Amino acid sequence: MVTAIVGANWGDEGKGKITDMLGEESDIIVRFQGGSNAGHTIVNDYGKFALHILPSGVFYDHTTSIIGNGVALNIPDLFREINDIVKRGVPKPRILVSDRAQIVMPYHILFDQYEEERLGGKSFGSTKSGIAPFYSDKYAKIGVQVSELFDEDVLREKLESVCVQKNVLLENLYHKPALNPDEILETLREYRSQIEPYVCDVSSYLHAALKEGKRILLEGQLGSLKDPDHGIYPMVTSSSTLAAYGAVGAGIPPYEIKRIVTVVKAYSSAVGAGEFVSEIFGDEADELRKRGGDGGEFGATTGRPRRMGWFDAVASRYGCRIQGATEAALTVLDVLGYLDELPICVGYEIDGKVTRDFPTTARLKKAKPVYETLPGWKEDIRGITEYDKLPENCRKYIEFIEKELEVPIKMISNGPGRHEIIYR
Ligand code: GDP
Repeated sequence: MVTAIVGANWGDEGKGKITDMLGEESDIIVRFQGGSNAGHTIVNDYGKFALHILPSGVFYDHTTSIIGNGVALNIPDLFREINDIVKRGVPKPRILVSDRAQIVMPYHILFDQYEEERLGGKSFGSTKSGIAPFYSDKYAKIGVQVSELFDEDVLREKLESVCVQKNVLLENLYHKPALNPDEILETLREYRSQIEPYVCDVSSYLHAALKEGKRILLEGQLGSLKDPDHGIYPMVTSSSTLAAYGAVGAGIPPYEIKRIVTVVKAYSSAVGAGEFVSEIFGDEADELRKRGGDGGEFGATTGRPRRMGWFDAVASRYGCRIQGATEAALTVLDVLGYLDELPICVGYEIDGKVTRDFPTTARLKKAKPVYETLPGWKEDIRGITEYDKLPENCRKYIEFIEKELEVPIKMISNGPGRHEIIYR
């Protein structure tokens, strides 16, 4: 049985918490895309953690955590994170890394920085973790697979060829120092000795696990609107954020993914540039940012203040549909208890016409939000564990959103902690 946990919005929906919770009833947790560019924040009995590359299952001793082939594997980040959690008292996690995962090279990070610098004010707002250059190289077929670390002749030849190409750009476009293949090879030797004990044929491992009836959790990063195909291109990430990609990025049959828990945030937030129809500004935004998440809406990786907005039903319904949501989890609802009223974006006005369908980017740029406003509940709902105990206006907000999403909301998160959840 495979469950996927994915985001319906721009990321930062609180997937980490839901994964941490569902991890309790899983045997294997798999990261299938992305790299250490985004982060999950998890609050559990060991403390508060920001994980960027490790699957959220690392806090349990009964789970195996897997880095799938679809991930952008940053080896120093992986070991930094393992050491960090172990130092803070978490038992050493069982981790497997796909032999088909590709490695984020030191020059990917440099190219990410140089390109953002070159673009100046027109930059993508990258986290500069090398993700776009990494996936570009992967699909240009000049990336380095974990398996290749173990064949030095192949590796050396590849690096020499890659450096010729990269150095033309470095010297002529970016005016930066050239790469030296010998130095890179030395770094890769270090990577090899670090990663060796963890390398595994993950697809084959998961095939056997499925046969044995093991419970597998696929953990997505970011959300639908950052998907390179279905999101707000080009202000997207470089690997698919969709549950469907879980099959590819883990190496399992698509029909095994039976449950797709799509995490929907009770208001909107986004990092980086890109269209954001229900965005709010000024004091209104500052207030929500300050109260949002757990200690404010600031990026888990970069610390950047997140852009804030009201709940966007158009984007979230689309986000759920494109994920194939079988259920939704509505998160950070507790944050909204201070508001007298809550606007919900129910339509986009584009060229004088109102639509409920999420458009392509060119039309999205022209969209103006159409709001419906619901009354607030003016109460702190943290600590409530039963749906019926929620204030009436709060239930009305949830039920309004559920109708808009066209997906059943089965979980409501009313606090950052693992047990702050209401099942429906
Ligand atoms: P992710 O990338 O989707 O896991 O999202 P993040 O971890 O970046 O953002 C979620 C933030 O909200 C984290 O700081 C969580 O601890 C916090 N959080 C998650 N669920 C809730 C909730 O229901 N209420 C509150 N107040 N905070 C939450």
